[in-house]
Amino acid sequence: MKIKNTAIALITTISLCTGQLLAQKSNYSELIAKSANNIEQKVIDWRRDIHQNPELGNREIRTAAMVAKHLESLGIEVKTEVGITGVIGILKGNFPGPVVALRADMDALPVLERTPVPFASKVKTVYDGNETGVMHACGHDAHVAILMGVAEILAGMKNELKGTVKFIFQPAEEGAPKGEEGGAELMVKEGALENPKVDVIFGLHIIAQVEVGKITYRPGGMFAGVADMKITIKGKSSHGAEPWSSVDPIVTSAQIINNLQTIISRNVKITENAAVVTIGAIHGGNRSNIIPEQVEMLGTIRTLSESDEQLIFERIRQIVTNTAEANGAEAIVELPYSSHYPVTFNNIELTAKMLPTLKKAAGESNVILVPAETGAEDFSFFANEVPGLYFNIGGLPKGKDPETSAPHHTPEFFLDESGFVTGVEAMVNLVVDYMEMGK
Ligand SMILES: [Zn+2]
Ligand SMILES: [Zn+2]
Repeated sequence: MKIKNTAIALITTISLCTGQLLAQKSNYSELIAKSANNIEQKVIDWRRDIHQNPELGNREIRTAAMVAKHLESLGIEVKTEVGITGVIGILKGNFPGPVVALRADMDALPVLERTPVPFASKVKTVYDGNETGVMHACGHDAHVAILMGVAEILAGMKNELKGTVKFIFQPAEEGAPKGEEGGAELMVKEGALENPKVDVIFGLHIIAQVEVGKITYRPGGMFAGVADMKITIKGKSSHGAEPWSSVDPIVTSAQIINNLQTIISRNVKITENAAVVTIGAIHGGNRSNIIPEQVEMLGTIRTLSESDEQLIFERIRQIVTNTAEANGAEAIVELPYSSHYPVTFNNIELTAKMLPTLKKAAGESNVILVPAETGAEDFSFFANEVPGLYFNIGGLPKGKDPETSAPHHTPEFFLDESGFVTGVEAMVNLVVDYMEMGK
């Protein structure tokens, strides 16, 4: 399907041609497409190398070294160990202009691979005290390889670029190991978006259930903001046969769980955005005939707008505290408890401005508006600071039923590598078009 020419000389020539065309303000997207096709095999090879050598979050030592070496070989200024293993590349174009950041996440997951591919991972590790495999079961290997390809094409266009490109290779998107900081949040904290200050950021995810060649996107909330909560209900213990001597935290908890259901059904404007309140764990008591002293509950909240999050937090605190009080019990609400991700919000104006670019890269009919998802993505920490646009590209073989394709994070997770080139093309076009448009 694609021209698989690996000759570097040809890529350079095409990159130079791209540059010349840019200078002439002609249509450069065709030449970007050619450059993307020419680099496709290299991207696939890099991806297979990373796939065979997966590393868990905050442990992406080999992957980061491979990225840094590649960026340096392209003459790109490199900073390492930003947010533990993160790598930042800075490519200054010949002309002044905006700073455009592109982000790829690098971490694998504690999953034992069961795919038949020859480059399947055989890596094992001990995770949380148990032996497990390590697998790129979310496609972050593809993200790294795609961004390495994008860097190579853009480095070849350096003389014509009207601005600076910042390549952000991020660790631990799936969450840092227990007791550690990590991911986009830590990179932001350590100044990833400063020096030079980023004006805009783009990111992508390859999806095993979206057909190759397609791009899916959504303006506004695309992935949910996530917060978890811990609720502790303190009552008074008694014999189960004499409940009148108790303040029963179990009955109180039952009322709280029921009352919490009214937040989504009666408070959230569900025609605008979906939201979720889930209690996923409840612990209290140890015998049939003892009313315990306290009950603990854990839950998760998913929202697609900041205002919904504020509303839901407020309602949870009110309902829990007042229901407990009505029962004579005491409630402690820890919200957020241990994790809190902002909504992955695609800046409305930026999305509208760059949509034609995505359509140009993938073809008008291949760019599809999709509903929001209640899963989370820590790209949100970047897009919380500067306008961002995050989109999905397809990794499902053409004609295959998405229902039969293994979900992300599972041992059979599979990507059709012919989808990578769409990511390369989209990213390069986004940078060049954004710079051409000016800030
Ligand atoms: Zn994932
Ligand atoms: Zn992922």
